[in-house]
Amino acid sequence: MTSKKFDLVIKGGRVIDPVLGFGQDAYVLIKDGLIAGIETESAEMTRLLKTLDDSQVIDATGKLVVPGLIDVHVHLREPGREDEETIESGCRAAAAGGFTAVCCMPNTTPRIDNQETVKFVQDRAEGATARVYVVGAITKNLEGKELAEIGDLVKMGAVAITDDGHYVQNPDIMRRALEYSKMFKIPVCQHAEDQYLVSGGVMNESFESTRLGLKGSPAVAEEVAVLRDIALCRVTGARLHIQHISTRRAVEAVRQAKREGVNVTTEACPHHFVLTDEEIGKEFNTNLKVNPPIRTREDRQAVIEGLVDGTIDCIASDHAPHAEEEKDCEFDQAPSGMIGLETTLGLVKTYLIDRGYLDWGDAIRKMTSNPARIFGLQGGTLAEGAVADITIIDPDKKWTVRAEKFRSRSKNSPFVGMKLSGQVYRTILGGKVVFEP
Ligand SMILES: [Zn+2]
Ligand SMILES: [Zn+2]
Repeated sequence: MTSKKFDLVIKGGRVIDPVLGFGQDAYVLIKDGLIAGIETESAEMTRLLKTLDDSQVIDATGKLVVPGLIDVHVHLREPGREDEETIESGCRAAAAGGFTAVCCMPNTTPRIDNQETVKFVQDRAEGATARVYVVGAITKNLEGKELAEIGDLVKMGAVAITDDGHYVQNPDIMRRALEYSKMFKIPVCQHAEDQYLVSGGVMNESFESTRLGLKGSPAVAEEVAVLRDIALCRVTGARLHIQHISTRRAVEAVRQAKREGVNVTTEACPHHFVLTDEEIGKEFNTNLKVNPPIRTREDRQAVIEGLVDGTIDCIASDHAPHAEEEKDCEFDQAPSGMIGLETTLGLVKTYLIDRGYLDWGDAIRKMTSNPARIFGLQGGTLAEGAVADITIIDPDKKWTVRAEKFRSRSKNSPFVGMKLSGQVYRTILGGKVVFEP
């Protein structure tokens, strides 16, 4: 540490950085939007604090200080559905949820399948309260027929490709996407649900779907899709990232593939490790309708076990805003998706950490350094020289999810009314506080 003046110092908190292997009380020093160092208590630090104004010091006593959280699966809806979300409102929701960076999906209108749309999103994200990384399309118009200009997308800054919302059903096209992606060193992300097997299902195919008389989408639709893509990943030597994994056998397939050295990674969403299909029959809440659907207890437990043993690398929200009038209909007519940016951290704390499945270090790794590594993003660490994207967490703070408090333009969350533990205390982007409750 030098005697240079810092812009901001976070004192008193427990600093957790999975990359540095750091987990103790320390000061985080920030200068010019970058991390200038992590220092433990010393006479020099005491002297330094005296030279700073109160406005330059954040007291994080009793809090956790971690790298800014990264959500690799977010729908920002702009361009096209600005009534549901905009890049600006989505980034405010991100900051309120402790996320300093999000990866946005290309299923907007128009689709993000060309350079102009990538540029549009990047321009709109300028000055927003989170970094926005664009995930481009695999195929033109997400139709699964013809590859998008992947090289152009990457040149413009796309960090990965996906047809999210749609499975790339044609295995030859998927194989070629994987081949191309190697040249650009990006992962190919897959919404792994075989559409022929989904066959219009609106919830998980199970005892519950039969009981409720709703058309089921079987777990095998995901298993088949994941197994095929693992085979294509193996043969191409490319990088495959399975999005929102939700079934026991899909998790097992990824576990096995990783053991064999296949370059596959995966993510899980809070709704798949918190909820089961038994919830749907209670009041037919259309906010419980998601793709892939919430599954059985056995599947939920398998997702949790995948998180515990490292098979599942990332926790992502699949934040999917929908207008209230669109969700206000019969369950089978409703669009799929729920918002998640503002509830993910509390759900991770309440359902994974408090129940003893993950410790804070594991959870933070899946929301910071793993996403940064897989998608090649800035941040994910508090190492000296890294961007000063930092989340300060009040780890045991109790709160209730309230729809009127959401910064998102949409309110479609089945977690409204739920009591959670663990809340964001400050979100810091490039050394500036962008959220405080
Ligand atoms: Zn999806
Ligand atoms: Zn999605």
